[in-house]
Amino acid sequence: MKLAVLTSGGDSAGMNAVVRAVVKTAIIKGCETWIVREGYEGLVRGNSEGHRHAHSTHNGDKGTVTPRAKGTEHLGDFVHNLRYGDGELLKDGTGDHPGGRTLKGRYIVRVGWDDVRGWFSEGGTLIGTARSTAFRTWEGRLTAAHNMIKEGIDALVVCGGDGSLTGADVFRAEWPKLVAELRQQNKITEEQATNHAHLKIVGLVGSIDNDMSMTDLTIGAPTALHRICESIDNINSTAFSHSRAFVLEVMGRHCGWLALMAGVSCGADFIFIPESPPNADTWEDEMCQMIQRHRDVGKRKTIVIVAEGAHDSKLQPIRAEFVKDVLSDRLGLDTRVTTLGHTQRGGKPCAMDRILPTLQGVEAVEALLESTPDTPSYMIGVRENKITRVPLMDAVKMTREVAQAISEKNFPKAMSLRDPEFSESLEGFYATSVLETEPKLPHHLRMRVAIMHVGAPAGGMNAATRAAVRYCIRQGHKPFAIHNGFVGLLDDNVHQLSWLGVDNWMTRGGSELGTNRKLPDIDLGAVAAKFQHYNFHAFIMIGGFEAFSSLQILEQGRKHYPAFNIPMVHLPATISNNVPLTEFSLGSDTSLNALVDACDAIKQSASASRNRVFVVETQGGKCGYIATMGALATGACIVYTPERGIDLDMLRNDVKYLKRRYALDAKGKSEGRLVLRNEVASQVYTTEVITKMFKEEGGELFDSRSASLGHTLQGGIPSPMDRARAVRLSLKCMAFLERHHQELLKQSAKSKQASPESAAVITIQGTSVKWVQVQDIVEHADMKNRRGKHSWWDNYRELVEALVARPQILAKG
Ligand code: ATP
Repeated sequence: MKLAVLTSGGDSAGMNAVVRAVVKTAIIKGCETWIVREGYEGLVRGNSEGHRHAHSTHNGDKGTVTPRAKGTEHLGDFVHNLRYGDGELLKDGTGDHPGGRTLKGRYIVRVGWDDVRGWFSEGGTLIGTARSTAFRTWEGRLTAAHNMIKEGIDALVVCGGDGSLTGADVFRAEWPKLVAELRQQNKITEEQATNHAHLKIVGLVGSIDNDMSMTDLTIGAPTALHRICESIDNINSTAFSHSRAFVLEVMGRHCGWLALMAGVSCGADFIFIPESPPNADTWEDEMCQMIQRHRDVGKRKTIVIVAEGAHDSKLQPIRAEFVKDVLSDRLGLDTRVTTLGHTQRGGKPCAMDRILPTLQGVEAVEALLESTPDTPSYMIGVRENKITRVPLMDAVKMTREVAQAISEKNFPKAMSLRDPEFSESLEGFYATSVLETEPKLPHHLRMRVAIMHVGAPAGGMNAATRAAVRYCIRQGHKPFAIHNGFVGLLDDNVHQLSWLGVDNWMTRGGSELGTNRKLPDIDLGAVAAKFQHYNFHAFIMIGGFEAFSSLQILEQGRKHYPAFNIPMVHLPATISNNVPLTEFSLGSDTSLNALVDACDAIKQSASASRNRVFVVETQGGKCGYIATMGALATGACIVYTPERGIDLDMLRNDVKYLKRRYALDAKGKSEGRLVLRNEVASQVYTTEVITKMFKEEGGELFDSRSASLGHTLQGGIPSPMDRARAVRLSLKCMAFLERHHQELLKQSAKSKQASPESAAVITIQGTSVKWVQVQDIVEHADMKNRRGKHSWWDNYRELVEALVARPQILAKG
């Protein structure tokens, strides 16, 4: 298969990761790989004749190919693909930019493995994007088809928004007619017409707006959310200092996802999103009342977020400037407007915008390889952490229906067409931001809720606590912080939390409550006595494996201690992500982002020295999640995990791989390479030993250094994804506690017996959030190694190796 990839529509972070993954996967699968510059416009412009043949022949002119290193000729085709370009071809500039001379007049360019080297950390799209009016016309698409056929390309990967994907579908549907017309005009031969009877096409959604239906996340949306939250976090301090109000306008056109998630993650006071507009006649009063209430309890700062496509229930646009005037005039607040504009698009892709586009790019190539004339064009999407394929036009149609529903003022329909997470997040926003005048629940249903952090700190713990506290206050419950874990409980380090007291906790890393690794069996009887003393009706523990173990002990303790006959939950929060069954713990995204940032800097240093291998040690206990996903997010070439361990054969192959890989690098173009090693992957082959071994074996080819990321992986400010997930899961925990508390109220006060289901862990499994009772989790736990028996990410190790061509490089020895 000859496959081309293009990026189209507005740029977004992660598009480069798509191109990298598509090119690499396609080469591995034996395809010839091409990129199209400037989106569909490049397809229409094609290659000027003089350039075409020189670069389309497999072994033809090597104007852009650097000579092979001596002694590597026997590696054959793979090396040819490895070095098809010179690795700098596109990075130095495309088209008319200085340094882009090699690409002038060429829009459809054959690329090799090394052309996409290091593309991970670059924002935007290196192959260019454009909006093409020509491609919207039949004539334009006819020329585009001709250009593809001239180069022999029969498969296309398109990464863009709904417009681009519609264009892709139109192109594929028309393809047979386009081919027929080209044949009729004698522009192609009969053989070409037969060979190109069908076009294979697959779409990936590159859009910062997260506006596509049937996928949880579009490529670039998480990074845009990072940029927005960074800005709001910065604004927070000045707003607080001057007691100001800020009205922020964020991007998102018809989709309020960015505004909503920013509102949730940054603890905004009010948001305006198109899917759920405020009442046209009353919103000014409602907003002012709400903000005044916040000010009355002592809030010094006010943050209002306005989506650029926001409007009221009569579809009259709501502009940031107008909101500012309302706040200034009615409440007398010193109010400023900040329009974030294009800063939201830019910058380095966050970890999620490296991992997901990589997985989606791999899936895109597989979908193309499996495609037949009868299969629909697929859009590659994601649900929770599962990569999905859905018929492209179904997704586009559903997306268009949202805009349609909004234009018809059918807002409930618009909300229902968004993913369930969207409405949950909106509910989460109200629950955590609105200060009600009256509690929602009657007295007899109100609880005294204990909240504790257990184990090591992890990003999102404080956000989860804030959400629980705010929810409690809204309902009429009393939230109690137990500081310093079970030790703190025994020391009576217990305090009631207030609505305002947790206001700034969304952005705080570490643990505001203080954590402790001690389990309740330090003195179970005394712990029970404290539960009784404080008359807790419900208990939420936020933490890692220790929290899970603690819950297990408390549940078992119910037999002897009636005080534990209350609903109890564990919300997993640990950077190690080692709680059994759940695929994500709070803090793991923050940690991956900290790792990506550190590794980008390390790689830059390693690349500056050209031929340096950095062995980077990661935390994670006996769980290889961070190391494996970190390797996928940074393009590391080797990963060592505790699940797999390290042995001599492995190390011998690793050295062999590195030697061959460095030998294959074009002269003067060696790059720094990363090796990630989990801190306890082996007791013998330590980071130091491996570093020295690589240094010794590398000889003239490469040098080696080590770096330990240590506690930096706990991250500073929690990532927006961890914060948003914390709110969502925490509120589910609270609803769970309420439900089971109400069940217990039906029993007689003297002989209350909590059901086993009422001691449970909230887990993310595939596409859903599931409650699993703690005793059921035990059978999935490897208690000795403190991790789950099954590690879903373990398969990604193979992908890490595939994406550095390890099997090919080792096999051809
Ligand atoms: P973004 O979400 O960033 O706006 P988009 O992909 O929706 O991205 P559009 O400008 O709508 O951006 O589309 C990008 C390009 O896709 C257009 O310039 C055009 O070349 C092509 N395209 C869009 N719709 C069609 C269509 N119906 N038929 C053919 N081509 C189309």
